[in-house]
Formats: sequence, C-alpha cells, structure tokens
Amino acid sequence: KQEVDIISGALELSTKSAKEVMTPIEDTFMLPLDGRLDFETISNIVRSGYSRIPIYDGSRSNIVSLLFTKDLAILDPDDRTEIKTIVNFYNHECLFVQEDTMLNNMFVVFKEGKMGHLGIVYSTEYIMNNQRYYDATGIVTLEDVLEEVIKSE
Ligand code: ATP
Ligand code: ATP
Repeated sequence: KQEVDIISGALELSTKSAKEVMTPIEDTFMLPLDGRLDFETISNIVRSGYSRIPIYDGSRSNIVSLLFTKDLAILDPDDRTEIKTIVNFYNHECLFVQEDTMLNNMFVVFKEGKMGHLGIVYSTEYIMNNQRYYDATGIVTLEDVLEEVIKSE
C-alpha cells in the first residue's frame, strides 16, 4: 500500500509543475542586498530555521543571490558586515526555474547536485543592458519535490 503510494507519487511528478508546490515569494524569508549582518539580522536568520536565504535587490521579486546559514560561521555581529560583501565572497550559484517546469525535471537537476537544493521559481525572464533578470514568484527545494513523492492521497 505504502509502496504503491510512493510509486504513484513518483509517476505524478511529470504532471505537477514547480508553481504548484513552491513556497510563494511573499512567504519566503529573504534579505535585501543592501542590508547588514548585524546581531538582530543574524538572530532572525537563525530563528527562521532555514539554511538558504534568497537575497533580493530593490524589489522582492528581483532575487540576485543566495546566503547560506553556514556562511555566517566566520562573522562577528559587531562588524555589521554588509550582505553584499559576504554574498560576493561566497558567490553561490542561483538556480532559476520557470514556473511551468515539471517536478520530474526539477528532481533530475537537484539530483545532479551541482546547483544545490533550492531553485528560484520565476514567471518571466527579460534582458536589460545585456543582463538577465527574473520575476521571481516563489522558491522550490528538493524537500518540496520529495514531499510530492511520499505524500499519500
Ligand atoms: P535543510 O533541511 O537543508 O536545512 P531547510 O530546512 O532550510 O533546508 P528545506 O528542507 O529545503 O529547507 O525546505 C523545507 C520547506 O521550507 C520547503 O517547503 C521550502 O520551500 C521552505 N523554505 C526553504 N527555504 C525557505 C526560506 N528561506 N523562506 C521560506 N521558506 C523556505
Ligand atoms: P546541506 O546540503 O543541508 O548543507 P550537507 O552538505 O552538510 O547538508 P548532506 O547534504 O545532508 O550534508 O549530506 C551529503 C553527504 O555528506 C551525505 O552522504 C552525508 O552522510 C555526508 N555528511 C554530512 N555531514 C557529514 C560530516 N560532518 N562528515 C562526513 N560526512 C558528512
């Protein structure tokens, strides 16, 4: 019974899109690129419990980078380090996925492991001054995909 649920969950991955399982952008814990890692911000990060924090520039739909909680390990809160500095130092690659990407394809990308286990979901992408921008609408992690596999009807 449980095995049947898992197998049908796995088969249904090709019928569900990133948009259907993502955490919407308004519920995503993120930080502004022009902020500082002071004591309060670091406390908020730790209290959030998330290990990956999207970083936005200007508008919350303009995600430009990722901060990992483990990046904070060498920081002194008294230095009030600029988020920009730490984000440029680690320069974690962001995986951008279109809303209609099917979960079986997401799973393959996550499994390859090169891009980490969090994707930024976007509705549209555009190019301005030779630079690519995305309208982010949510985030999706490996956990969101696996939940679809193991959840029983
Ligand atoms: P890990 O388990 O690797 O430490 P995590 O607990 O930070 O990671 P996941 O386990 O990947 O996060 O995801 C758990 C749920 O939390 C998923 O639904 C995911 O979409 C959501 N999530 C992950 N990061 C954030 C974030 N920064 N803000 C809001 N929701 C998030
Ligand atoms: P995260 O991706 O949430 O940052 P992580 O990269 O530390 O976590 P996992 O992705 O959970 O670790 O595991 C990756 C592999 O590394 C697994 O095979 C796990 O057993 C192994 N691993 C995790 N932590 C350690 C450790 N402290 N020492 C040796 N191997 C570890």
